[in-house]
Amino acid sequence: MTTADIQAFRSPVPDYQLSLEEQQAILDIQNSALEMVASNKPVQEVLTSLCAMAESLLPNSVSSIMLRQDNGGMDVLCAPSVPQEGKLRLNGLQPGPTGGSCGNAVYRNEQIFVVDALTDERCGDTRELFKDYGLYACWSTPVRDANGQAIGSFALSSFEKRSPNSFFKQLLAVGAHMIGIILQRSKQQEALEYMAYNDALTGLRNRTSLFKQLNQSICDPDKTQKTFAVLFLDLDRFKNLNDAFGHTVGDEILTIVSRRLQKQIGGMARLYRVGGDEFVLLVENTKTIDDVVNRVIKTLNHPIDYATHQFKIDGSIGIAVYPNDGQTAESLLKKADTAMYHAKKYGLNYTYYVPELGQKAKQAFIIENDLHRALNNEEFQLYFQTKVSAQTHEFEGLEVLLRWFSPEKGAISPAEFIPIAEQTGLIVPIGDWVMKNALMQAEQLAQKLDRPFNLAINISGAQFIDEHIDKLLARINNSSFPNEQIELEITETFLVQEADSSSSQLEKIRQAGVKLAIDDFGIGYSSLAYLKRFNVNSLKIDRLLIKDITHDSDDLAITKAVIALGKSLGLQVVAEGVETQEQAVLLRESQCDLLQGFWFSKPKPFNQWDQS
Ligand code: C2E
Ligand code: CA
Ligand code: CA
Repeated sequence: MTTADIQAFRSPVPDYQLSLEEQQAILDIQNSALEMVASNKPVQEVLTSLCAMAESLLPNSVSSIMLRQDNGGMDVLCAPSVPQEGKLRLNGLQPGPTGGSCGNAVYRNEQIFVVDALTDERCGDTRELFKDYGLYACWSTPVRDANGQAIGSFALSSFEKRSPNSFFKQLLAVGAHMIGIILQRSKQQEALEYMAYNDALTGLRNRTSLFKQLNQSICDPDKTQKTFAVLFLDLDRFKNLNDAFGHTVGDEILTIVSRRLQKQIGGMARLYRVGGDEFVLLVENTKTIDDVVNRVIKTLNHPIDYATHQFKIDGSIGIAVYPNDGQTAESLLKKADTAMYHAKKYGLNYTYYVPELGQKAKQAFIIENDLHRALNNEEFQLYFQTKVSAQTHEFEGLEVLLRWFSPEKGAISPAEFIPIAEQTGLIVPIGDWVMKNALMQAEQLAQKLDRPFNLAINISGAQFIDEHIDKLLARINNSSFPNEQIELEITETFLVQEADSSSSQLEKIRQAGVKLAIDDFGIGYSSLAYLKRFNVNSLKIDRLLIKDITHDSDDLAITKAVIALGKSLGLQVVAEGVETQEQAVLLRESQCDLLQGFWFSKPKPFNQWDQS
């Protein structure tokens, strides 16, 4: 209760001259209603008891509260002594000059006292009903809203012809006043509740509502169903859309997506918006999970036409099931989120949670955090590994390999942190750091070695965005190390998956006179067409293939074929991971151009670098 509420209760309406006992009786009613409101009793209960109190003061009477509806007519809100049939007949009563005493009270916004409804001309619309129920008198008072508008009526009807004395006039006035306040309060509460539990943009239930529901489902002591599923849906690359088109468009798209999802899913799941582009679906019947997932995917597959654009919104779904995957709301959500993250990472539509995902996610999270720090604290270092001529074993070039020395964990392999840096986008600043330092150190090595050599730098797919490539090329152009001696190594997998969308960047690299090498060749799904189309200069055979060439005739045959293939396309062929002399000999005999591996040299930091 606010003080304003209490104030409103304390200062009732007209002042009829009443005896002390009468004043006390009204005060008692007022107080008991007040108490019920203060203890947050449901509105219906408070109103019912108010009606009952009024009836108890006037023998042979029935009390009723009617409320104006959006369509203009009045419906019975509370009338404990009126049979259901009577209520139904009363519903829809129009406020107006013939609307009975209640319809008139609302119509005129004043108290109306009908002594005999059977003869009173104001009761044309209610006469039949009164006749059927044996009623005569009806005394009504308008219930008003905060602005004083009549929104309903509070009435006492009698099985006798009679007119009210001051006490009943006052009683009805005070009662109607209280009803007005109670209704207003409940409306405010509804609005507050709505705001607390719903998302302002989409109108969907929000995170608070989700937690409430989850806790309820988990704690329900006599729950009939023992299991349910939490589906975590995250829209892919939504941030890009926001960045490119602005938040107004982003909001509009989100609203459309929400509406479509809600429509497709209907009653199969409860839909919540829990973050910017994050949604949760609660599925009570776990047999329908797949169906719900399919509906979500189908909904998202449907492009959105907005303004002059067509938007294709993808999403990734992670699924966790209670109680197997988690016993609390928090843990269920976390598991679903982990599964979603996995789905996103591997470009899957959805993934069910399995415990191994949790471990991986935790590690990735720790590494991601540390990587941010590593970049600021200069915990990275560059190592260089030689490439030599397969025929003469003469030094030909260097590959730059990144190393991370964490103060707590020591050396961490790039194989472990590069994939995480790629997913989180950190590869962009890290890659820039690599380029800057590689060029700087290569300039110095060039002086030290006094002979030209090629410098190979690894580039990730995530760096193949115009602005990043432009920045890398600017660094290369500003360096005194010749562009023609720089080779960017990109993986075969990247080329197969992303080459089409990256052709403009590949072209820019070529235009700058910088070379391209295909890394890890032989394990992906290489297509010759790609090699030709993108004008790569060299091919690096994956070390997994080289590893067994001395004792696995298949691997040797494949390696030979790859070398022949590369050479037929005019490419330089490099074998990496050469660890033994036998391998080096076999590769030389197979006409491989360059060799790289521990047999010749391990990767070494700049300051330890010599030609051996
Ligand atoms: P990669 O490009 O295939 O690099 C060759 C990897 O093979 C290096 O591992 C190197 O140390 C290792 N290696 C060289 N010779 C031998 C050998 O004889 N035997 C064996 N067993 N291994 C050998 P490293 O340095 O751990 O790098 C792993 C991967 O991390 C690289 O594979 C590359 O994909 C990525 N990476 C490294 N530095 C960078 C970087 O600056 N940027 C990006 N985007 N990726 C990088
Ligand atoms: Ca490489
Ligand atoms: Ca490689």
